[in-house]
Amino acid sequence: MKKVKGYIKRKSMLYVTGVEYGDYTMNHVLGCAHGCRYPCYAFMMKKRFGKVSSYEEWLEPYLVENTLELLDTEIPKLRDKIKSVQLCFTTDPFMYRYDEVGEMSLAAIRKLNKNGIKCTVLTKGILPIELAELSEENEYGITLVSLTEAFRKRMEPHSAKYPERLDALKKLHDRGCKTWISMEPYPTPNLVRQKLEKILDAVSFTDRIIFGRTNYSKDVSSFPEQKDFYNQCANQVIEFCSEHGIAYHIKEGTLTQLDEA
Ligand code: SF4
Repeated sequence: MKKVKGYIKRKSMLYVTGVEYGDYTMNHVLGCAHGCRYPCYAFMMKKRFGKVSSYEEWLEPYLVENTLELLDTEIPKLRDKIKSVQLCFTTDPFMYRYDEVGEMSLAAIRKLNKNGIKCTVLTKGILPIELAELSEENEYGITLVSLTEAFRKRMEPHSAKYPERLDALKKLHDRGCKTWISMEPYPTPNLVRQKLEKILDAVSFTDRIIFGRTNYSKDVSSFPEQKDFYNQCANQVIEFCSEHGIAYHIKEGTLTQLDEA
């Protein structure tokens, strides 16, 4: 197991995401040991605003030690406005091998659920089975953009292996939990040769799939057929989900054929 680099205090915890499929969010860690190289939007923003100075620093997470105290203060004020809280947008709530982070995430989810607030979780780590004992309203998700381990090692170097991630999600599904997949940022063929149908088949047990293109990447913007590629992939996801009774959301800017018709 790994230890966080240190502890910080914050003044607030719950805030509105402003993204297309989110409501409220909380980010109780600064930094993320997974070190994704897509690039990671959270890292780019934290670097731009001077919160971290380098990629190496980003890899060493700081836990917000007053997370639960902040929730105790904020939940009563916001309870009536919140539809759900997503963990997390700028870090990972079940950071691989960082038990302290996972324990804080579980405690936060328990507290939110106790106050009647649903949580949506997304990780590139391992979802703990204890989540199955929490609110039935919660939704548990993993990011899965490939099944090729060599690609994971290159692009998400310190995350959990794909089979382990999937296995933990399936166990929660088998216990009756709602599960979902974030298939974003999906890579173009110049980054990895793979068959989308194989990934879709591997996640056919889930309740919802969110599919989105890769942004902010020179490799992707230099791939000449990227628009056609993403249109084809998005249509394939829609077809697959429709056939299997899976809810789906295609992120803005991914399916462009309709805009141009
Ligand atoms: S898991 Fe998310 S927050 Fe962490 S490095 Fe990867 S993209 Fe960034």
